[in-house]
Amino acid sequence: MSDTRSLREREKLIFEASSPGRVGYQLPTLDVPAADPAATIPAASLRGEIAELPEVSEVDVVRHFTRLSKWNYSVDEGLYPLGSCTMKYNPRINEEVVRLAGIAHLHPLQPVDLVQGALALMWELEQALIAVTGMARVTLQPAAGAHGELTGMLMIRKALQARGEHRKVVLIPDSAHGTNPATAVFAGFEVVEIASNEQGTLDLEPVRTHLDGGNVAALMATVPNTLGVFEPEIARLAGMLHEKGAFLYMDGANLNAFVGVAQPGKMGADALHINLHKTFSTPHGGGGPGAGPVAVSQALVPFLPVPTVEKSGDRFDLVHDHPATIGKVRGFYGNFGMLVRALAYIRSMGGAGLKAMTEGAVLNANYIRKSLEGIYNLKYTGPSLHEVVFDDSRQAEKGVHNIDIAKRLLDYGFHPPTMSFPLIVHGALMIEPTESEGIQELDAFIEAMKAIALEAEENPEMLHGAPYTTPVRRLDEVRAARQPVLRWQRPRE
Ligand SMILES: *Cc1c(COP(=O)(O)O)cnc(C)c1O
Repeated sequence: MSDTRSLREREKLIFEASSPGRVGYQLPTLDVPAADPAATIPAASLRGEIAELPEVSEVDVVRHFTRLSKWNYSVDEGLYPLGSCTMKYNPRINEEVVRLAGIAHLHPLQPVDLVQGALALMWELEQALIAVTGMARVTLQPAAGAHGELTGMLMIRKALQARGEHRKVVLIPDSAHGTNPATAVFAGFEVVEIASNEQGTLDLEPVRTHLDGGNVAALMATVPNTLGVFEPEIARLAGMLHEKGAFLYMDGANLNAFVGVAQPGKMGADALHINLHKTFSTPHGGGGPGAGPVAVSQALVPFLPVPTVEKSGDRFDLVHDHPATIGKVRGFYGNFGMLVRALAYIRSMGGAGLKAMTEGAVLNANYIRKSLEGIYNLKYTGPSLHEVVFDDSRQAEKGVHNIDIAKRLLDYGFHPPTMSFPLIVHGALMIEPTESEGIQELDAFIEAMKAIALEAEENPEMLHGAPYTTPVRRLDEVRAARQPVLRWQRPRE
């Protein structure tokens, strides 16, 4: 019987497509004597044989990887509603700018005199982020959000040490992103979890109780929080913390909910990381490095990582002379390419454009919320900002869980939302459409979610087998995590 499955179903690993003696290159015949590697390279560094590389032709390679690339899903293809991750469209103009020769060919060891333009760019980005956040200064060094958190918490630790204090406790709400407690522990603190109230937000009382103990270094709060809900007491919390000599670390990964509308500086934040790869549209999610600049209040300025970019007249310098600095947190000055893309985005949007971005993100999240409430359960009913968290409790009555809904969405052609986070919502489906989406795309997603809710009523069993249309069907996720097979091995003859 011939194999009538489609190419897509027959796709092999490139190792399995190997055919002895097949090559992907043509070299001219040697017209000089062949060198003896053993004569020039120490024996210990020589490989006996290059084992098991696939033997394939150029067209084999091109077709294999082109076919695989078509299995991919990206923001360039459709809605990517991964909550908290802000998978917005990355405008092509950013890529044009970062590929300009004068930028792409820079070397981090070039003398300051020859990179004045690059320093001007960094300085300008710092000014833009100061304007957005209302904070005193910004370091551009951290390479991601979590790295920004660590940078901020190390500054807070240093500031306390400078006062001769060794406070140990960091308060973190139970709605927090997992990186927050991890960061606090990594920076040498102990985490005390604060329970959210009925609205999923922070009350003053539990924080006050802990502050009275005198050992609190900081509160780490995500604003808006991971439910997509604004923390209404944040300014009062900041006041209480400051009164007791503690700091407010604000997780600003969700800054796309209020750029151009509100400023963390005015809410009393002392340190705040910004995910350029979320709010300011630089690629992420398998798409390259990130950048997590940290904005600080006046109280933390002396502790900023070195070097800082300083301007005097028309000249820019890298300044290392900050005696209280926490030091360097990154080789060189951070992921420069991300800084360029973010500034290109900020400059092309302008102040009014950034505000419109925020309004679009909030409008889209609320449109989805209104369209699906009553169909999927909303545990917290406070108004949404940039994202909305549903749960699977209605569908669970029929034995259908968030994983089934997420997997079924793949059959409808959408990337699933974030699942099972935040932890305070059991069976969470956290949807963040971003402002990139037009109403047609939102409606198509809403229709798909409604169709799945109907399937959950009428044919719940079917959903347990989803997805049905993808090249790879549902995996045993526990086995994939516990017994991963990460290398191809030649099958035994
Ligand atoms: C994404 C995110 C982070 C971590 O950012 P990374 O760049 O992935 O390290 C931290 N907090 C929140 C709320 C986030 O959404």
